[in-house]
Amino acid sequence: MENLQRFQGKVVVVNGASRGIGRGIALRFAKEGAHIVVSANEDRVHSVAEEIRTLGNQALSIVCDVTNKKEVEALYQQVVQTFGKVDVSIQNAGVITIAKIEDMTEEEWDKVMAVNTKGVFLCCQAAAKVMLQQGYGCLINTGSGQSRDGFIYTPHYAASKMGVIGITQSLAKELAPRGIRVNAFCPGIIETDMWLYNDSAWGKLLGNYQQGELIHEWVDTKIPMKRAGSPEDVAGLVTFLASEDAGYITGQTINVDGGLIMS
Ligand code: NDP
Repeated sequence: MENLQRFQGKVVVVNGASRGIGRGIALRFAKEGAHIVVSANEDRVHSVAEEIRTLGNQALSIVCDVTNKKEVEALYQQVVQTFGKVDVSIQNAGVITIAKIEDMTEEEWDKVMAVNTKGVFLCCQAAAKVMLQQGYGCLINTGSGQSRDGFIYTPHYAASKMGVIGITQSLAKELAPRGIRVNAFCPGIIETDMWLYNDSAWGKLLGNYQQGELIHEWVDTKIPMKRAGSPEDVAGLVTFLASEDAGYITGQTINVDGGLIMS
């Protein structure tokens, strides 16, 4: 990583930051000088704030269910009380389940849509209320390869992630004249807890794959760059989108997937 310090004094909120991609994004912004707010569903998010403080940055951790409007509004109020502003908000919390259509429950559908789509909207809405008062800000939403191309056994997840593009484009048009940019990123195969579940659940339904076999097959056959991605790969794109170099970019959805999807 280059030794950039693009976010000195900036306040960056990362939702879904207790592990995986969100944690990687939070650490990258911290290494570039930002004050960080990490939030997630469970108490383990506090350890990420501890980790960031050891880098010398100010960090706040808040347990917040992104599907709960009151908790989301309280989160951004606490950020303003602590740091006085929100420069960047990254809507990254996400969940997935994998099931055949005859087995998928209504609860699975509702939960995936609530976290991945409604959660993105609620966080954008609460962050935007702060940013509109400031007259500036940057919202970055988490899509997926399934924002582009729905994959088997995950109609709810594909719908939820295609919805993220709709939210991003609509808000980008509304908020651009008021100083706020809104973009999205689409990770491909990124090695996290979510991917371990995907590998195992898709592996069982698509054939008799052992843990780790499916990911290796897909990396070999589907990814031109022939490797899975890391949270750091994703963080490189997200920090660019939040930086001044991306100052003329809004309403865009960008893949970070080693060439898996080229549309
Ligand atoms: P992980 O499962 O490793 O982490 C998910 C994060 O979301 C955790 O911090 C979790 O918090 C948080 N979260 C889940 N539900 C809620 C909720 N209701 N409220 C607040 N936080 C919540 O996933 P990844 O890091 O792999 O994925 C991050 C994002 O990237 C997701 O949106 C995912 O859909 C997307 N993505 C990932 C891909 C991959 O290959 N890994 C591919 C494409 C997209 P807690 O620990 O407290 O449960």
